[in-house]
Amino acid sequence: MYDVQNIRADFPILSQQVNGKPLVYLDNGASAQKPNVVIDAINTAYAAEYANVHRGLHTLSTIATEKYEGVRAKIARFLNVPSEDSIILNSGTTEGINMVSYGWAAPRMQAGDEIILSIMEHHANIVPWHFLRERLGVVIKWVDVDSNGDLDSDAVLAAITPKTKLIAVTHMSNVLGTVIDVKAICACAKAKGVPVLIDGSQSAVHMPVDVTDIGADFYAITGHKLYGPSGSGAIYVAPERMAEMRPFLGGGDMIRDVTRNAVTYNDAPMKFEAGTPGIVQTIGLGVALDYMMDVGMDAIAAHEADLCAYARGRLDGLNWLNVQGQSATKGAIFSFTIDGAAHAHDISTVLDKKGVAVRAGTHCAMPLMEHMGVGATCRASFAMYNTREEVDVLIDALELCHDLFA
Ligand code: PLP
Repeated sequence: MYDVQNIRADFPILSQQVNGKPLVYLDNGASAQKPNVVIDAINTAYAAEYANVHRGLHTLSTIATEKYEGVRAKIARFLNVPSEDSIILNSGTTEGINMVSYGWAAPRMQAGDEIILSIMEHHANIVPWHFLRERLGVVIKWVDVDSNGDLDSDAVLAAITPKTKLIAVTHMSNVLGTVIDVKAICACAKAKGVPVLIDGSQSAVHMPVDVTDIGADFYAITGHKLYGPSGSGAIYVAPERMAEMRPFLGGGDMIRDVTRNAVTYNDAPMKFEAGTPGIVQTIGLGVALDYMMDVGMDAIAAHEADLCAYARGRLDGLNWLNVQGQSATKGAIFSFTIDGAAHAHDISTVLDKKGVAVRAGTHCAMPLMEHMGVGATCRASFAMYNTREEVDVLIDALELCHDLFA
């Protein structure tokens, strides 16, 4: 039985007051809060078990290495992929996608080759492809979303031509909350020989993700949105793609031999992990994944589905509030503007005075904002610890904004 109050008790920050009001943290899409087990694990890692990994033969280094390396298998289990060797540890999605851009795409692409993106991508899944456009003359082909915020997977597949080298799409929009049918995209793209990269930054925290079932070539996740530390993350790379990929960063740990005139590389995935990694961050991520898997991803998804339906009903009841994106697959992310009201920043400032933390701005998704014809929105994004009562506090605070600004 899902007990949200028990879960809340695990997250110390949630019991504090902000501006004299109980904190209502609805900025989870930007970064999620951390449970005690993660905070304690970070403390223990630094206080009692800290050393560099992979290098030393001494006891502390062995403990740190075992804990750090153990996270690879946890991520493989979390994403349901058969081998931990397909998991490259990194600092988050931004690094993961840049690695694919530099290490896999750039050596294989030339002027005129095409990459298909949806219009609702985060800048982390746009700018690395702009680099290839600028440097190599690669063409970015955009697939729009409809007025509900849905991405038609047939439209993505219809955009494929003999020059298409990659499809890169988000699993869940960080602005609209739309969940994309990535499995359908992967199945058809595979039939046409086109690899697919999926940005799982938003999805992996809300639902069970089965990368084997999806059939992705690349699947990127970021630790700080998964109740883990910032500076942690990973990318799944399918074995065929791993074999094709060149190292992105050079340095210690990713080599086998270095001489004056030559270098040979370590085996994958180490070949793609140069330098001292985010040791403690990664250990913390492993604990966060254990925490989520102990609660159960199905249970988290069910709780959030209930919360999402409740929030949707209450927000739709405000006829002066414009919620962006009404997809049937919408998850618990709501971006909105208020008719005739001040800028999203002013709305979020009023909400903050009521203890409600939301994000305001363009959400690192400028092409989508332009497509929707809005300058900036507020975004309330929910997590496993949010409650219906917190939705009510949000609604009261929005009504105050309407009274003040409209
Ligand atoms: N992709 C999406 C959909 C996101 O929401 C984010 C973060 O907001 C990112 C990528 C980038 O993640 P990070 O900054 O952790 O690398």
